[in-house]
Amino acid sequence: MRSHYCGEITEQLVDQTVTFCGWVHRRRDHGGVIFLDVRDREGLVQVVFDPDTVDAFNTADSVRSEFVVQITGRVRARPAGSENDNMTTGKIEILGKEINILNKANTPPFPLDEYSPVGEDVRLKYRYMDLRRDEMQHNLRFRHKVTTQIRNILDQQGFLDIETPILTRATPEGARDYLVPSRTHQGSFFALPQSPQLFKQLLMVSGFDRYYQIAKCFRDEDLRADRQPEFTQIDMEASFIEEKDIMGAAETMIKDIFKQQMDIDLGEFPHMPYSEAMSRFGSDKPDLRIPMELVDVAEFLQDIEFKVFAGPAKDPKGRVAALKVPGGAELSRKQIDEYTKYVGIYGAKGLAWIKVNEIEKGVEGLQSPIIKFIGDDNTMKIMEKIDAKNGDIVFFGADKETIVNEALGALRVKLGLDLNMLTREWAPLWVVDFPMFEETSEGGLTAIHHPFTAPSCSPEELKANPATALSRAYDMVLNGTELGGGSIRIHDQEMQKTVFEILNISEEEQREKFGFLLDALQFGAPPHGGLAFGLDRLIMLMTGAESIREVIAFPKTQSAACVMTAAPGEVPAKNLREVGIQLRAKETK
Ligand code: ASP
Repeated sequence: MRSHYCGEITEQLVDQTVTFCGWVHRRRDHGGVIFLDVRDREGLVQVVFDPDTVDAFNTADSVRSEFVVQITGRVRARPAGSENDNMTTGKIEILGKEINILNKANTPPFPLDEYSPVGEDVRLKYRYMDLRRDEMQHNLRFRHKVTTQIRNILDQQGFLDIETPILTRATPEGARDYLVPSRTHQGSFFALPQSPQLFKQLLMVSGFDRYYQIAKCFRDEDLRADRQPEFTQIDMEASFIEEKDIMGAAETMIKDIFKQQMDIDLGEFPHMPYSEAMSRFGSDKPDLRIPMELVDVAEFLQDIEFKVFAGPAKDPKGRVAALKVPGGAELSRKQIDEYTKYVGIYGAKGLAWIKVNEIEKGVEGLQSPIIKFIGDDNTMKIMEKIDAKNGDIVFFGADKETIVNEALGALRVKLGLDLNMLTREWAPLWVVDFPMFEETSEGGLTAIHHPFTAPSCSPEELKANPATALSRAYDMVLNGTELGGGSIRIHDQEMQKTVFEILNISEEEQREKFGFLLDALQFGAPPHGGLAFGLDRLIMLMTGAESIREVIAFPKTQSAACVMTAAPGEVPAKNLREVGIQLRAKETK
């Protein structure tokens, strides 16, 4: 139907006759001459219809935005002065000879030829229109380029692309499962995989040695910002390897992608133990572009009367930390109130502060509502420890360690961004030496990574000190976002059972849920490990998109629904009967 894409028609084709197809981006009537901008995935081209080609002129006059047209015409140079250097086709225009309307279009729900501040719900409802926009076309093409490069890199390194099932049994990664009722086994359910974890491990037991997959994963998580119930991982696993091998392969891959797609050198990735990341940055995914750190100050506050500080300072599970913000003394009362509200989201009950006006005057040169509770001496010792300078503001967190880390960690990032403190554009690192387990709110233990992660110790040591045991897990972090993570796995049945026991999974439940894995570990499982990257996040960071929905063709909303297809939807009673399901009456609120 066409000789060229619209966006490919350049001055090299002057005087030639071309045929192209696309959407009417814009129609203008310039006193007797009709101008159409026609768009396809390669770009826009300008077409002019003169009244002397009567039929074509009349048809061109009748088209509206987003009509689908086929046009034949002659390429000519634009008149001097009307070139557009921002467009590949900006030096030429087409003198339209024939125009054929291939399809009409209703008035678009939002204009595509200019910026329009339309709500995301409308964009998602008419996603097929939204995807016509330049930015979305760019994002998805960029994503394609990255996945193509990933496939090439991994193929060259001997990784085999092997598909794993979508209808399966639960693969725990810490979220709820999406369930699919079985018609042929009534009362039984498949779970959609939270990741291909167990299957990729079994592929190692089968001897494939190196596996990868660009895999859909499904997690029914509580509504958290910028998560998708289905998302894509670059999933990898390899046998007869140690941490350095798989981390090295993954790091090289990410560096190559940044180099080829964006000409950016990420440099060597530093390694940071989890405990250091938490104590210095309050986060296991520290944003190292921001030059501020949390500093422990409990030592000065244990013996004061003021319970808000003294309590956590004395509590082994508490923390009192200071965050020094250079230049922050300029923050207004109102701004401080807003930051106080912000840390409240993370459970902090308040946000104490000291402004440093003239440090050479001692406490006289400080301004704060809390010095009277801390005492002059202690205050000055704290100022010395954190090396306070004039113009700083110092914020304090005092609470359970987890709350202080979360609140001050998040505040550090927010202030860093608000006050334009970023020291560089890209800051990658590996976080290593994670604990095996963390405490649940009920007092039990849960796996920090997943229960198939190998500990750095023997089963006996693990049993003796589960709460302090470290794992062989690693996370790759970029600009404060976890890009991916993985671990060396347990390949020994005894160790796997020990971990299940510590997680309070009974012998019976172990057999029922993971019997196939425990069996496989007894049939010659090689040492193995791997990791997975979040593809959507990676593309989001690389394109600078504001949310992962901007780099997914058909994403779900924040409430895990698709407004375009109206999924999830009700199903006819007959279909429910077939799978043996009877709905309960809806709970009335
Ligand atoms: N399956 C893990 C995850 O989805 C990644 C890995 O351990 O390879 O987080």
